[in-house]
Amino acid sequence: MFFEESEDYGVKLYRLTASEEGPPKLFVGGLHGKEGLYTAPILERLANEEIYTGQAIIVPSLAENSKYIDVLSEEYYGSKEGIKLIRLIENYKPSFYFELHAYGKQSYTKLTDPEREKRIGVPPFVDLREGILIGSIAPILRRKFRENDFCMTIEVPKWQSGKVRAEVLQILRLALCKVKREEVMLELRMRYPVQIKKAEELFRQYYRNRLKPF
Ligand SMILES: [Zn+2]
Repeated sequence: MFFEESEDYGVKLYRLTASEEGPPKLFVGGLHGKEGLYTAPILERLANEEIYTGQAIIVPSLAENSKYIDVLSEEYYGSKEGIKLIRLIENYKPSFYFELHAYGKQSYTKLTDPEREKRIGVPPFVDLREGILIGSIAPILRRKFRENDFCMTIEVPKWQSGKVRAEVLQILRLALCKVKREEVMLELRMRYPVQIKKAEELFRQYYRNRLKPF
């Protein structure tokens, strides 16, 4: 086991290397604006976990109070944060990728809107419970990954209690310790059967069965 904190790519990151074989994993929080204030405490705790497989790179907050640019837009990937993100992905070639955002109450309806695909071209997020939202990552970014990579976005509700954040941590912990994507999905389906079914359906509709959720 090997734990290291460093400043690669101009951003604070943790590198966890296990003696157990496993795929490379990347966990990134705080992609724009100030949402890092909410994602960093969760990812800092994840970085201190003792059970993991493979190599995990954890970035508690990619942006430091930056301008808000939507990750669905091309523009984001030309911004300082977007460029860092692409470099991290190209360098570590993660098979598991988790993107952690935070949102305010006023955005809930927009993020979960059943008409979201018609409106902005991407499927709505699914509420696992208490406002913890999951969904696919930006289609522009998905192209940087291979077909079988596991890529998920989690939106953390800003107004929720520590209990809800602990639940987000549990989901991430799952990804940190499992080796195969199917093991993560099985566990998630057990914990949130109805919600995961819905999220998988939305994913399949969007990618027309070209990719496995997620
Ligand atoms: Zn965000």
